[in-house]
Amino acid sequence: MTNHTIDAYDPHAFHDELAAHGLILPTGIRGAYGRGPVFEDILERFDALVMNSAADDGAEAMTFPPVVARTMIEKMGYLDNFPQLIGSIHSFFGTGLQAREMADQARAGERWESFLDITDLMLLPAACYPVYPMFSGLLPEGGRLVTTRNWCFRHEPSDEPTRLQSFRMREFIRVGAPDAVEAWRDSWLERGLALLRSLGLPADSDVANDPFFGRAGKMMATSQREQRLKFEIVVPVVSATEPTAVCSFNWHQEHFTSKFDISRADGSTAHTACLGFGLERVVLALLKTHGCDVNQWPAEVRAQLWS
Ligand code: ATP
Ligand code: ZN
Ligand code: MG
Repeated sequence: MTNHTIDAYDPHAFHDELAAHGLILPTGIRGAYGRGPVFEDILERFDALVMNSAADDGAEAMTFPPVVARTMIEKMGYLDNFPQLIGSIHSFFGTGLQAREMADQARAGERWESFLDITDLMLLPAACYPVYPMFSGLLPEGGRLVTTRNWCFRHEPSDEPTRLQSFRMREFIRVGAPDAVEAWRDSWLERGLALLRSLGLPADSDVANDPFFGRAGKMMATSQREQRLKFEIVVPVVSATEPTAVCSFNWHQEHFTSKFDISRADGSTAHTACLGFGLERVVLALLKTHGCDVNQWPAEVRAQLWS
């Protein structure tokens, strides 16, 4: 099924090939290349396909900016779990004199961040975060289903084209009775696999864990795996032996419903789960599998995306 135009799984060769085809536009910043028009076209068409496959589910669409309240990051436990990934927004609150000093220091090639102070904002690490506070209070019978798409930031600089510092996620978020939430997650896992396989991708699913920080994090990762709370759909993109996650499914159980006072009308426990397609990663999986010349992609794949 696979028709590699790129030999082997060499991330650097893949990066260079993507750049040579104008699919990505190197900026010199690790994990923050630009995207050419063909890359964007594939990304938008894949996102439309996902939305179309979910059209009958009646998800409420919500749109948020790619920044989030600092208090939200604190409340989510992000500083304990993923401090290595955070992006904090700082700005300048000083006087005219201090502004000139700061600019002079920058011009002289010296460090100037001591002139900055923390703002109320941080960069958004996952598209679903702003959605949970929207559920606060009593849920309607049957719970809720929301979809959102956003730019996400994670400080994990890499030369490897699938590990970006800034990328887009299409997420679906479900809140409701525990069994309904689990069943929703299971059916989406099947749907996601079918959708990706229909595009000729050698996709598989597996239990996974989040990259929890530090020694305590190892235990959290183990427990997350044992409880089968996180699944990923993976496709080989930059490695044959360590396939890349293109879609993740997280079952948070009561983690967010307790933090944001989300409850069901009958007083029983509510759970949340979310799933997120890494949109750039899906594009890269398609390019790796079918080659960098979109005109040469299999007709069935082209027909699905460009119908
Ligand atoms: P990984 O294990 O590869 O770091 P993750 O477990 O951190 O992925 P999630 O936090 O579940 O991923 O994010 C949801 C989806 O967002 C992933 O399935 C992936 O497709 C995408 N994603 C995550 N991190 C990145 C990144 N640094 N660059 C591009 N896409 C990413
Ligand atoms: Zn999520
Ligand atoms: Mg990660």
